[in-house]
Amino acid sequence: MPLFLHNTLTRKKQEFIPADVNRITLYVCGPTVYNHAHIGNFRAAVAFDVLFRLLRYYYGEQAVVYARNFTDIEDKIIRAAQENGKEIDEITTKYAKIYNSESAALKILPPTLEPLATEHVAEMQSIISTLLEKNAAYIAEEHVLFDTNQFSNYGALSNLNMDDMIAGARVEIAPYKRNPADFVLWKPSAAGEPGWQPPTKWQLSGNGRPGWHIECSAMIEKTLGTTIDIHAGGQDLRFPHHENEIAQSACAHDAPLSRVWLHNGFLQMGKDKMSKSVGNVALVCDLLEQWPGEVLRWALLSAQYRQPVEWTDALLEQSKTQLDRFYRLFTEQNINIDSQKPDSEFLNALNDDMNTPGAMAVLHGLRDRATRQTGTKKIETLRTLKASGILLGFFDADPEEWFKQKTGTASFNLTDTQIDILIEERVTAKTQKNYARADEIRDQLNADGVIIEDSANGTTWRRK
Ligand code: AMP
Ligand code: ZN
Repeated sequence: MPLFLHNTLTRKKQEFIPADVNRITLYVCGPTVYNHAHIGNFRAAVAFDVLFRLLRYYYGEQAVVYARNFTDIEDKIIRAAQENGKEIDEITTKYAKIYNSESAALKILPPTLEPLATEHVAEMQSIISTLLEKNAAYIAEEHVLFDTNQFSNYGALSNLNMDDMIAGARVEIAPYKRNPADFVLWKPSAAGEPGWQPPTKWQLSGNGRPGWHIECSAMIEKTLGTTIDIHAGGQDLRFPHHENEIAQSACAHDAPLSRVWLHNGFLQMGKDKMSKSVGNVALVCDLLEQWPGEVLRWALLSAQYRQPVEWTDALLEQSKTQLDRFYRLFTEQNINIDSQKPDSEFLNALNDDMNTPGAMAVLHGLRDRATRQTGTKKIETLRTLKASGILLGFFDADPEEWFKQKTGTASFNLTDTQIDILIEERVTAKTQKNYARADEIRDQLNADGVIIEDSANGTTWRRK
């Protein structure tokens, strides 16, 4: 079965056929870097990391170009800098770095390109100039605005008509707009705010900065091209962000921006979207203190990307238990996957619009089979299982290390090094036939949640 994806533009699941099999282009709207990300912010990054991995598997690593931007100029960033008495780039550099290290913990592959908005202001100005020349944009009160009446397809992606859009809370009403749905391409910078000099032909009186939407159009044009294969992001971005990206790029280039559009559902706390404004957030930095990144990834992928996923402690515990079962099998023997292919049923599930719960069910089935098997049959199944899991970003931890990780809310006092030292001391005690001390150490470790196992090859340990 070939890869099928649900295209928001056509509202259908369609076979994915790239324009050029040697250069497949994927763009995902990235984070605004001014504070710590919550786990909901990572849903798109993880969901489309699966797509990136799948495309690389089918077309080759070199053939897939994936760009995910950093929004490093925006009102919220400027406010954060002012409130903390810091320079803007100090804030954005810090949080972009944190975002990347959290991404790595969640086994998200680095995208091929990570463009910064602030490095593409000239490209943004160039698109805006084209739009002004084509009368698709106009200048009013020192702003440059996109004239939505000039783009007949406006609203096609989100399936909204003009009245719906105006009623939508996300359209800002401003007296200088010809139409309430018109959006800002360029705005004046107030004193103390960062600004760039606009082209003289715009005849503006001072420095300004770009509106939000134009940055993605400019970075896509620069890094990937005029029309790309796939553009993806959270479902809240369909309108106005993606609708506006489409309008400005299509008018500037007389070509569609993307052939396929994908949108992921929300991560929820109960019935509500996890959201900073509600305050019901679980920060990734805090979650990573308690759980291995792979557990968070497993939990995120336990629902198909278009469906909501409800974030609960039970989901995390269940994810850890399930991963433990796989890793326990891998502790039995060292599995070398070499050129082993993933399971075909597993791939079929992913080909069905990235049905990750279906793919994970196949992994469970393979695990059950391996548990019942012995000898070379078992090794064969384990190889297929591991190769499948690795494609999805799982199972590449050292199994022994896996069981040493801290998990859940239990608090552990001993560090890994302290545990190693105590175990060495216990070995010495045993060789000196000081069994009382050896037992004491075992009890002390046990009280701290560390289980030790003696075998012919020595002593190993894991956390409860
Ligand atoms: P925000 O910080 O709320 O502006 O969100 C930044 C990005 O994270 C947007 O692209 C949203 O689509 C995404 N996002 C925020 N909250 C959630 C959530 N609960 N589930 C999925 N995506 C989210
Ligand atoms: Zn975007």
